[in-house]
Amino acid sequence: MIVFFTHTATHAQIAEMQLHLKQLGFDSQLVPGQNICLVHKLKDEQLLANFPFVSHTQIISSSYQLASNAYKTETNFQVNGIQIGTHFANIIAGPCSVENEKQIFETAAFLAKNNIKFIRGGAYKPRTSPYSFRGLGKDGLKLLHEAAKTYQLNVVTELMDLSLLDEVAQYTDIIQIGSRNMANFYLLGELGKINLPILLKRGMQANVNEFLLAADYILSGGNEKVILCERGIRSFDPMSRNVMDVGVIPLIQSLSHLPIMADPSHGTGDAKFVNALAKASLVAGANGLMVEIHPNPKLALSDANQALTFEAFEQLLSDIELLKPTIQKPIDATYSILV
Ligand code: PEP
Ligand code: MN
Repeated sequence: MIVFFTHTATHAQIAEMQLHLKQLGFDSQLVPGQNICLVHKLKDEQLLANFPFVSHTQIISSSYQLASNAYKTETNFQVNGIQIGTHFANIIAGPCSVENEKQIFETAAFLAKNNIKFIRGGAYKPRTSPYSFRGLGKDGLKLLHEAAKTYQLNVVTELMDLSLLDEVAQYTDIIQIGSRNMANFYLLGELGKINLPILLKRGMQANVNEFLLAADYILSGGNEKVILCERGIRSFDPMSRNVMDVGVIPLIQSLSHLPIMADPSHGTGDAKFVNALAKASLVAGANGLMVEIHPNPKLALSDANQALTFEAFEQLLSDIELLKPTIQKPIDATYSILV
C-alpha cells in the first residue's frame, strides 16, 4: 500500500504511524522528498483510520509499486535544458569506451555538428575477460567531460561500483547502470539518494517484472529521474550477440510511467543490424536511442563489431528524419521550445 500524507504531516506523526504499523507486523518505508510511505503487505486502510494526516492510500497490485503507471502516468524531466521522458525521445551516441583524446574529441565534434545533445562513453568498463581493455578510468572520465564541455554536450557514462560514485558523478550528467549491475540492489538503493538521472539498462537475463522492481529500488530512495533502457536479452541462439526485445518497449509503456530507451548496438551486437533495430525501436515507441559509434570502428578497443561509422550514423539520422511523423515525439527537444 502507498500511503499519502497531507502537507501538514510532521515527521513525528509519521514516525508514530510507522511504529504503530510495525507493532501490527507491517514494515514501512518513507520515500524521501515525496510525502509518501510504502507499507509492505498492508491491504486494510482501516488500520490507518486514527491518523488524520493520512490523506489517502493506494493499493497497487503489481510487485513493483513506484514504477507502476497506476502510481503515476508519466515521467518527464530536464537535463541541462533538454527534455527527457515519456513524451520525448533523445539520442545518446558515442563510443563503447573512451580510448584517447583524439577519438573522443572527434566524436564530440561530430555529434555536435549533427545536433546531438548526449555523448556516451565508458571510462570504467565491465568486460567479460579481465584481460580485455577495461577503460581509462578517471582519465577517461576527464576526457569525456572535457570533450562534452567543448561541444556543449551532456555526458552519459557507466557507474560500475558504489566506491566510484562521487568520482563518476563529478563528470557525468546521467549515470548509466549497466546490464550486469541491474541486480546490484544495494547500488540501486544508493542511487535512489542522489539527484542525478539514472539510465538503468535491462539485465541480460531479467524479465520485465525484475526490471521494474530494479527501478523501484531507485525510485523508493526518492530519485524520480529513472530512464529504462532495453539492450537485448540472452537467447539460445549464438547467431546474434543478444536478442533486441523491441516488443518490451510497448509492453513496459503499458505498465510503467518511466521512459524507456533502446540500445540496438548491444541489442544486436552487429553494426549491420543497428540501423534496422534503431528504427524499429523508435517506431515501437522508444523514448530514445543509445547507439555506439566510433571514428574508426575496426580499431575500437571494445565492441568493435557493433560500432557504427560516422557515415552509418548520419544515415540513421536521416532515416529517422523520415520517420518523425510516425514517431510523434520531439527528439532532443530543448526546454525553451516548449515553454
Ligand atoms: C555499454 O553500454 O557499453 C555496456 C557495457 O552496456 P550493457 O551494460 O548493456 O552491456
Ligand atoms: Mn559497449
